[in-house]
Amino acid sequence: MKLILLGAPGAGKGTQAEVICKHLGIPAISTGNILREALKSGTEMGLKAKAFMDAGQLVPDEIVIGIIKDRLAEEDCKNGFILDGFPRTLHQAEVLDEMLDRKGINLDAVIEIQVPDEIIMERILGRYACMKCGQGYHDKFQKPKVYGVCDVCGGTDFFRRVDDNKTTVQNRLVNYRALTYPTIPYYEKKGLLRCVDGTGTIEAVSNKVDSILGIK
Ligand code: ADP
Ligand code: AMP
Repeated sequence: MKLILLGAPGAGKGTQAEVICKHLGIPAISTGNILREALKSGTEMGLKAKAFMDAGQLVPDEIVIGIIKDRLAEEDCKNGFILDGFPRTLHQAEVLDEMLDRKGINLDAVIEIQVPDEIIMERILGRYACMKCGQGYHDKFQKPKVYGVCDVCGGTDFFRRVDDNKTTVQNRLVNYRALTYPTIPYYEKKGLLRCVDGTGTIEAVSNKVDSILGIK
């Protein structure tokens, strides 16, 4: 299965990508995570991306396209993949199509997770993750079973993203509407778009995604 998850920042793409990854055994690829890892390792690419990310702006197309090109060439993508946070511009979508065409790969679906802005803000401002394994949590909606202990790896250190603040989220939402939104009619015209109401619980949204994908 070759999938794209679309949706505003904080809509739940990463959360659902993780669930699909568990259900289907295909890798979830987040350009945001790859950029944050690059920054943590102090690579040139990470340092170049930092100012854009901190300001809630999109990182230039050539950087993220390069990331996706390298990542899709890896062995674990042979049987499928879930793209989370890519493409984010029409140009990225067109280049992705060319890339996949050259490999003889067809996308199976593009799932747009729809969540209104008021909910987005609450989701992003409450988001945090385990420092050791990256498992995502939320202050209110996705708490670890034991307070302060990661369900997945037992880690006790957590972090919040520097770009998860009110001003940056506002910029990210403006950019989403202006730059990413045009990819929705693009995929609709191709007959690939499936829309999901993302306002229910994580499990409710996951059930809807599963039924679209014909899982279960
Ligand atoms: P995205 O990858 O689209 O930026 P995330 O998957 O990181 O968004 O979700 C943002 C925050 O909202 C996380 O803290 C996550 O735990 C929480 N979240 C995700 N989906 C839901 C949901 N359906 N209901 C409530 N909270 C959710
Ligand atoms: P995310 O983790 O998806 O919320 O992305 C965090 C940040 O990384 C974004 O606000 C952008 O600055 C950058 N980013 C991630 N993916 C892309 C992309 N496909 N195109 C441009 N910038 C991106």
